Amino acid sequence: KPFAGTLATQAAARRHQVVTRAVHDAGGRIAMQILHTGRYAYHPLAVAPTRLRSPISPFTPFELSARGVERQIRAFVRCATLAREAGYDGVEIMGSEGYLINEFTAALTNHRDDEFGGDFDRRVRFPLEIVKAVRARVSRDFMVVYRISSIDLMEGGMTGAEVAELARRVQSAGADLLNVGVGWHESAVPTMAANVPRAAWRHAVRNIKQAVTIPVMASNRINTPEVAEDLLASGTADLVSMARPLLADPAFANKTREGRADEINTCIGCNQACLDHIFTERVATCLVNPRAGRELDWDDHPAAVPQRVVVVGGGAAGMAFSLEAARRGHAVTLLEAGPELGGQLNLAKQVPGKQEFHDMLRHFRVALARAGVQVQLGVKAQAPELAARIQAGEFDAVVVATGVTPRTPDLDGAHHPKVVSYADVLGQGAPVGQRVAIVGAGGIGFDVAEYLVCQSDESTQPARFMQIWGVDDTLQTPGGLQPAQAPAPTRQVQMFQRKPGTLGKHLGKSTGWILKAKLRRAQVEMTAGVTYQRIDDAGLHYQVDGETRVAQVDTVVMCAGQQSQCSLYDELVALGVQAHLIGGAQEAAELDALRAIQQGMQLASEWSQAATQ
Ligand code: NAP
Ligand code: SF4
Repeated sequence: KPFAGTLATQAAARRHQVVTRAVHDAGGRIAMQILHTGRYAYHPLAVAPTRLRSPISPFTPFELSARGVERQIRAFVRCATLAREAGYDGVEIMGSEGYLINEFTAALTNHRDDEFGGDFDRRVRFPLEIVKAVRARVSRDFMVVYRISSIDLMEGGMTGAEVAELARRVQSAGADLLNVGVGWHESAVPTMAANVPRAAWRHAVRNIKQAVTIPVMASNRINTPEVAEDLLASGTADLVSMARPLLADPAFANKTREGRADEINTCIGCNQACLDHIFTERVATCLVNPRAGRELDWDDHPAAVPQRVVVVGGGAAGMAFSLEAARRGHAVTLLEAGPELGGQLNLAKQVPGKQEFHDMLRHFRVALARAGVQVQLGVKAQAPELAARIQAGEFDAVVVATGVTPRTPDLDGAHHPKVVSYADVLGQGAPVGQRVAIVGAGGIGFDVAEYLVCQSDESTQPARFMQIWGVDDTLQTPGGLQPAQAPAPTRQVQMFQRKPGTLGKHLGKSTGWILKAKLRRAQVEMTAGVTYQRIDDAGLHYQVDGETRVAQVDTVVMCAGQQSQCSLYDELVALGVQAHLIGGAQEAAELDALRAIQQGMQLASEWSQAATQ
């Protein structure tokens, strides 16, 4: 049965046993995190050490009285004892990411002048009392994990020396294990998005590891076995924790153990279907694995009547369909006109900070081969020939996933030599001048702006990342921050949209701010509410607020959305062939990789069910 619920009563503890039993039956162990969100609680009665509102919350918290603090400590202990009754093997006390405990330990949010605030000793008293009290109430074999904020990434946060001292005291208070958190939710430094280099926070983990003798667990942007192994082998950490990579591939550990790491469906750090769904009150799933969080909605039944299917188009939808269909026993031939699989994903992988798309494509290539899909590259399917092969009985069915083409707006000068499309720039490396206008500010407009102005090594070189985002990797400053050293912009870029209002409103909730911060730093100009007039040798002519202006640019990049590329489908239908149409070829508007993958898998699943009846 689906399970949901907090753990505040014995009845709730009994409900949690559904989870703990299932994990134990499968030979696993499970700890439960005790999280008090403090001033991040989305609630008018939120409480915190001091009455200070977080910039990411509409609610100003109430200040806890001294008795209120004691009551919270007792609540942590009660929650831990209930977790024990519920069958958990341990608890993790959440002391990082800017939640209640972290708000006590940082001078920034703790202006108290009682035994729980003031100097360092008094600020760390709250977590230490919690750990001691929990330890005293649970047996030795019940694991007490403390998630420590290794680097607050907030002005007025703890220094590295204070973090190390807190780690030592948490160990003395009775913790068995330290899990390492990074940054606060309101930090202006990204901590886990794709533009953060893999294992970037190792220096903060090392600071804690050197301070204690209990095991230390690293987290954040550890998405492959190689990265995890490196952290362990180098002695940086004793364990690694992963969350998103296990949504992307629940078999991550087994595949690693069996030497099949190349088959892992790698988390690309996009946050698009996990965190962004949670932040917009939708059920979390995963862009590369739409089964995540919806496991009960899918079955794995093989098709009773395997069919011979030809799929045209090796983008996200075509690959997802082919893989799911082949896994269910159909014989699949996948035709791709280009020299490699991937379609629009091949454009995404060029964008700085989206290098993880290379791994997504590697997974598809390996998985398609293992599933026995016959991939034919450089084959442009023609309707008459395909129809003839189907009518001759070579294939039982055809799926058309021919994707999209960039939209060319109906604009005077749209074919001027200085105009290129986003596909020309990202896919063909078309030359782009020093002064650029981008027409259209959807996800692709922002991607192109980033491609044109950002240093490409920021998301792969930790030292570069720290410098650009203002992180003190010596951990000497409070909160681990120092002045950012942004590189000079490499181009002058202006972005335009016809809609009024802020550009980038529809970017991902947890990643859009990062992109906008990067473009602000690169002095990208953004103009909304424009009416385009024409493009000529002078540049892009437009009107805004009743005034006519010219963006004097060398290049105009069209990022004005897409149109379905469905002529093959139409021709097949005209020839009497019943074809299935999926992905961007079916509906170009608001197409993203999640929808394309989901749709491909869904069709393969429904079809196989139909073939079993
Ligand atoms: P999009 O989000 O639909 O944006 C298209 C842009 O072009 C809009 O800014 C639109 O704004 C403008 N436009 C539309 N028709 C136009 C016309 N005839 N003339 C001039 N401008 C026009 O499409 P996209 O940026 O190509 O992205 C495609 C899909 O990929 C989207 O679903 C997007 O969410 C997804 N994507 C997501 C990410 C990500 O990071 N999550 C990255 C890339 C793409 P105005 O009409 O106001 O001018
Ligand atoms: Fe990773 Fe993106 Fe999936 Fe989230 S949605 S688990 S970030 S691949």
